[in-house]
Amino acid sequence: MNPYTIFSDIVAGRAPSSKVYSDDDVLAFMDIRPFTPGHLLVIPKVPAKSLAELDPVVGGKLFQVGQRLAAALRESEVGCDGVNFFLADGVTAGQEVFHVHLHVIPRTPGDGFGLRGRPTTPQRADLDYLAGSIRGALDRL
Ligand code: 5GP
Repeated sequence: MNPYTIFSDIVAGRAPSSKVYSDDDVLAFMDIRPFTPGHLLVIPKVPAKSLAELDPVVGGKLFQVGQRLAAALRESEVGCDGVNFFLADGVTAGQEVFHVHLHVIPRTPGDGFGLRGRPTTPQRADLDYLAGSIRGALDRL
């Protein structure tokens, strides 16, 4: 799959964007179809299609920049009193642009944004079983 998407064009300045932050590794800009006013995207400058391809150090920077942006959103005229982070990794997770991006979504009461999932109530044994499976996978990575 071609690693270049519209986000590479934005990084290179070949496509327009409303930027809010840039450093050597990370760029943040306004989402053109915001869920709420002030919705931002934080991306690595070097394209990575998925979390598996993303340099973990840069992944940490995405979160650090997202943290600062969350504080800035609260202080700015966006005037939110809450923030959601969201990252879709893979088609099934809802990823549409295959260049990793962290959504930073300002929240105000009654803004209509929300996750549709319903929590379930598994037995402790089921939680323990899957926890063991995930621990095993971690050890093999
Ligand atoms: P995903 O569904 O992959 O998590 O989110 C992709 C996001 O990228 C969407 O929220 C969409 O509005 C945003 N997006 C897609 N194309 C562009 C673009 O050209 N410029 C900007 N600023 N955002 C874009």
